[in-house]
Amino acid sequence: MSQRYQTVLLFGAPGAGKGTQGKILGSVPGFYHLSCGEVFRTLDLHSELGKTFYEYSSRGELVPDDVTVKMWQQNMHAQTVLSRFKPHADLLVLDGIPRNVNQARLLDKHLSVLLVVHLVCRDKEEMIKRLRRRALKENRADDAREDVIRRRWDVYEEETYPVLAHYPKGIIREVDAIGSPGRVLQHVLEAVVPVQESHFNNPVTGEREK
Ligand code: AMP
Repeated sequence: MSQRYQTVLLFGAPGAGKGTQGKILGSVPGFYHLSCGEVFRTLDLHSELGKTFYEYSSRGELVPDDVTVKMWQQNMHAQTVLSRFKPHADLLVLDGIPRNVNQARLLDKHLSVLLVVHLVCRDKEEMIKRLRRRALKENRADDAREDVIRRRWDVYEEETYPVLAHYPKGIIREVDAIGSPGRVLQHVLEAVVPVQESHFNNPVTGEREK
């Protein structure tokens, strides 16, 4: 890959609202949203990769890094070839990856991380309630069982939270994840829009100015 993707990371615990916010951002021209968990969920569960995903996600564990990063790369390539993602015009909004420090290191050669939006939730039980509600609505095996939800939280605290220290403090913005989706969105936009405008600031083409 010749050029690194200009990227914003949506970061936070399970249930913090990364997917909700990412989807909204992804619907705005100039942003391209990719959720790693969603890519995994679209896999055919009978394929080798699908089976591996199910094996780990149903326990609340992370899929091994080599498999995850390879799948991510292939997906990014496919989205670029199909012109859904235009690296010269779109700010990449990633959610759910990197999920541990090793993944962050592996992704360094592909990403230029301009901003990390940390959706902070100080009320763990509220997040767990959200996950339970979502499991019912979206039929998600990983959030249907209390022990799996709690394992996902432990994995977040042990493996994912340390990812924050991989990036310079100056590019991390905290946004309170508790509140209405509209209010959270307002704060996310306040953080993200200036970054998008300063990197892709041609108002006609939306492309990066030389
Ligand atoms: P999510 O919807 O982002 O919570 O992801 C659901 C599940 O997919 C996780 O519990 C993991 O099993 C798997 N997964 C998603 N993203 C990653 C990642 N970056 N690394 C490893 N496993 C992942």
